Amino acid sequence: MRAIFLDRDGVLIDNVVRSDQTVGSPRSRADVIINPLSVQFVESLRQLSYSVVVVTNQPDIARHLLSLNELLGINSLIANRIPGIESIATCIHDKDDGCTCRKPLPGMLTKAAKRLGIDLNQSWMIGDRSSDIEAGAACGVRSICVPSLLSHSRPRRTCESHYPHFQADDLIDALRIITANSI
Ligand SMILES: [Mg+2]
Ligand SMILES: [Zn+2]
Repeated sequence: MRAIFLDRDGVLIDNVVRSDQTVGSPRSRADVIINPLSVQFVESLRQLSYSVVVVTNQPDIARHLLSLNELLGINSLIANRIPGIESIATCIHDKDDGCTCRKPLPGMLTKAAKRLGIDLNQSWMIGDRSSDIEAGAACGVRSICVPSLLSHSRPRRTCESHYPHFQADDLIDALRIITANSI
């Protein structure tokens, strides 16, 4: 079994621009805007026999800016709107909590791999930040960086990781890279 590990915010769904112009993760179901390419992307991955596992950092829980109930609501909404997602793994800790799951650590990937019997060497991590690339690199998964959604409203944030990774224009381009480089 092989898998595609997918970052959630800025990749499958848009980041949110708040009233003070900062950009962050949605804090309510009403804020969720699904990337129109996500549905086709996940469907194509399933046809290629990849398990699709979402891995997302949600430190707003530890910061008391988001309730666990609303987080679970947002995750179910995404899973309902994008058929084919196997599971959504969430790190609810903050930087200084000392957990092993917060990206760039690979805990969410390795745990899901163990549970689902996934061969990490045949798997990919797709994200919009260096921490996504590093989480993949830390467990032997090849990585693809896609431009962060809403990047048009800010200078484009790219993955500046020193680990090797592919750069895609969007999710459909990422699909092309995966197909061309499958083992
Ligand atoms: Mg992201
Ligand atoms: Zn964690």
